[in-house]
Amino acid sequence: MPNSSRSPQTHSTGHLPPLKLHANREKSVRNRHPWIFSGAIAHWPHDLEDGGLAAVCAANGERLGYAYVNRRCSIAARMVAFGDTDPYTAIRDNLTRAVAFRRKHFDPAQTNAVRLVNGEGDMLPGLIVDEYADVLVLQISTLGMERLKPFVLETLVALTHPRAVYEKSDVAARYEEGLTDFAGLLHGRDFGPLVVTEQGLRFHVDIKHGQKTGLFLDQRDMRALVQSLAAGRQVLNGFAYTGGFSLYAHRGRARRVVSVDSSSGALKLARSNHTLNGFSVTDDDFVEADVFAYLRQLDAAAFDFIILDPPALARKREDVIRAGRAYKDLNRLAMAKVAPGGLVLTCSCSHFVDEKLFGQIVFQAACEAGRQVRILHRHRQALDHPVSVFHPEGSYLKSLLLSVD
Ligand code: SAH
Repeated sequence: MPNSSRSPQTHSTGHLPPLKLHANREKSVRNRHPWIFSGAIAHWPHDLEDGGLAAVCAANGERLGYAYVNRRCSIAARMVAFGDTDPYTAIRDNLTRAVAFRRKHFDPAQTNAVRLVNGEGDMLPGLIVDEYADVLVLQISTLGMERLKPFVLETLVALTHPRAVYEKSDVAARYEEGLTDFAGLLHGRDFGPLVVTEQGLRFHVDIKHGQKTGLFLDQRDMRALVQSLAAGRQVLNGFAYTGGFSLYAHRGRARRVVSVDSSSGALKLARSNHTLNGFSVTDDDFVEADVFAYLRQLDAAAFDFIILDPPALARKREDVIRAGRAYKDLNRLAMAKVAPGGLVLTCSCSHFVDEKLFGQIVFQAACEAGRQVRILHRHRQALDHPVSVFHPEGSYLKSLLLSVD
């Protein structure tokens, strides 16, 4: 186990136990896929503890890299280094590269809420790090990354000098790993609600009580697209959360913007975000409701731009059929109700509903709504949420901008 007080260079990995793979199951690791399923493992060393690091070897003994392991999971090992690179060096280099990439692409005067580390997309499986101004928020989903936390924390603090590092690990996958939820301060001074800037707009962020790590950063580009299309439109922001899309629609000179969400806390923040940015609002602009029910009772053509950014409706593979029906209903209702010549931005962040299936759902919804629907734009997640080509599973967000005649 790494000792957090030691510098990254001094971690010794010479003794790590070898984890041998079956000859016919090595290919994906050779192709730099980070996941090793339990069936691929030919031999478990007796001295290898769950959460510990192992040297991953081909059947012929060749070293393929290093992984952390957890025997109780079907993904029994996740690669943190390939080839002969020492795992601590690889983790430090991957963190350094991840931070440098965001520093290069984001001007903090314009955007200081970014995803610094995107799990497998940054070759750091099990780790998400979001940066809100000078506060980092860590989300850890695996036992192996939990064991590496002291080293990761030390490296991140050295790279970014944050005021505070807070952990907010509440993902369901932790239970499969034998972990429970955890939230707490890991480094620095305690903090309250923050104000951050995204593309020049300001947002109140309540990291401790908000959803996920505080904001949904993956839709940043789509919010800018909404701004560019909003002029003169009546915009319905369904699943508005703290009003991200609504603020951009206002900045794009929408005629009216209504934010609908089932969470009164989120809507309260949405309202104060409007005030923070100088947009005038009325009580009617914020509706606490179930978006499905709201759309059902809505007068036709009341809006000519409807945004649907629901939470993941399929959280497990078994949910896909039920979730598919819910996505279809939602899209059918929006397409049926939007004014002719209107726009619908429809999104799905369910990993288990892939792009093809989402396209089929939208097709079926358009058939049932009886409208002429065209795709104007397709989008995945923003560039601080990279997906490794070796790990396509990391792609989860799909957005389609539709014109509905
Ligand atoms: N579009 C937002 C993020 C949406 S997160 C942004 O850009 O920041 C999903 C939101 O949907 C959450 O705020 C949650 O409270 C809300 N929600 C979940 N189920 C809902 C439902 N059935 N009706 C209305 N809101 C719902």
